[in-house]
Amino acid sequence: MTATLRKGWCPGALAPMLSGDGYIFRLRLTNGILTFERAKVFADLARRFGNGAFDLSARANLQMRGVAGEKIADLQEELRALGLLDSDARAEAVRNVVPSPMAGFDPSAALDARPLVAALEALLARETALHDLPAKFGFSVDGGGLLPLQGVETDIAFAALPGAPPRLALSLGGRPAGELAPQDICAVAEKIARNFLRLRGQDRRMSAVVARLGVAPLLDGDAVVTPSSARDEAASCDNFLGAQPCGGKYFVGAGLLFGRIEADSLEPLAELAQAFGAAELRLTPWRAILVVGLERAAAVELAKRLAGLGFLLDARDSRLVFAACPGAPACSSARGDVRALALALAPHWSAQAGRVHISGCEKGCAFNAPALTLVAEADGYALIDFGLARERPSARGLDLAALQSRLISLAQGTRV
Ligand code: SF4
Repeated sequence: MTATLRKGWCPGALAPMLSGDGYIFRLRLTNGILTFERAKVFADLARRFGNGAFDLSARANLQMRGVAGEKIADLQEELRALGLLDSDARAEAVRNVVPSPMAGFDPSAALDARPLVAALEALLARETALHDLPAKFGFSVDGGGLLPLQGVETDIAFAALPGAPPRLALSLGGRPAGELAPQDICAVAEKIARNFLRLRGQDRRMSAVVARLGVAPLLDGDAVVTPSSARDEAASCDNFLGAQPCGGKYFVGAGLLFGRIEADSLEPLAELAQAFGAAELRLTPWRAILVVGLERAAAVELAKRLAGLGFLLDARDSRLVFAACPGAPACSSARGDVRALALALAPHWSAQAGRVHISGCEKGCAFNAPALTLVAEADGYALIDFGLARERPSARGLDLAALQSRLISLAQGTRV
């Protein structure tokens, strides 16, 4: 099979992207469902074809890292045999749907979002006109309940409303745009996506088109979206790590340091979860994997075992609020080992003091919202007090000692 190789593209299994440590293969798993058998197979593939590492993306995809160029075709053949290759790279690239991580296991959810996600993905793969959507254009389907998709911003977002009969709230580029019945999700998504393509000009994201034109032109021709009724804010769950009750069962949230998981951790995670009677693993957009369908005692014991394996099980762990890209040497654009810096700074920070983003360059791949941001430069780190990596720094040339004292004083004042 011929690989489609492009640098600077959203990586896929058919369009791997070159990085400093080899090619990245993004595996888009429908509904974020990772069965135990598949997790073990992925761990084996990562050892044989990659450098053994995976990243969990902000869209709940698993990215295999460090694949050598000469191994791409063989890895694709293995993935195809597992039924994990799309028909072509464009169909794969457009299949960006963030799911509800607990769908089907949360009785408090307004609806089971799994069939809606599957239908939306099938539509995106099938309708070739939609393959012109920009690479980062994405959808989300939030079933509500215990773990709503908080902090996940997508171009076209559907979120279940409480009550009966089931209704979905629609947001375009973060702006409320109306309500619809769940069975209309594909028709509405297709209509809006086609309107976006017609209206977008040079814009690549829905938020830019909505800022320019409002939502009405994007809904043009769509009779099934009705104005939103007043509704309560979505419930929120601040802590989903460790053993957590859900309905009559439990789940365990296992946080990943910087969203990274090694094959040597993924395999024991799957084996332990299976041995403790869990149903399956679920990927989240929050750099954590959920083990779902557990009894209470099993969840408590499993959480202890996973903490011993290096997973982050305590929401107070300050390492959880550090976002850091792979940095040097994994990325050729990086000017520093940003993950080592994050680990050196974490003891001087507290999880309640807010997000810290440490970036190897101004691109800021790891986090795209305002935070206390440090950017590696040739002569130390630049500090953006509360902003994005590409914004103007308030200080430059900071070394480790200077950064530690800055973070200590900021944490004490909790300014960010
Ligand atoms: S932010 Fe820069 S250094 Fe970090 S991964 Fe992205 S391109 Fe590489």
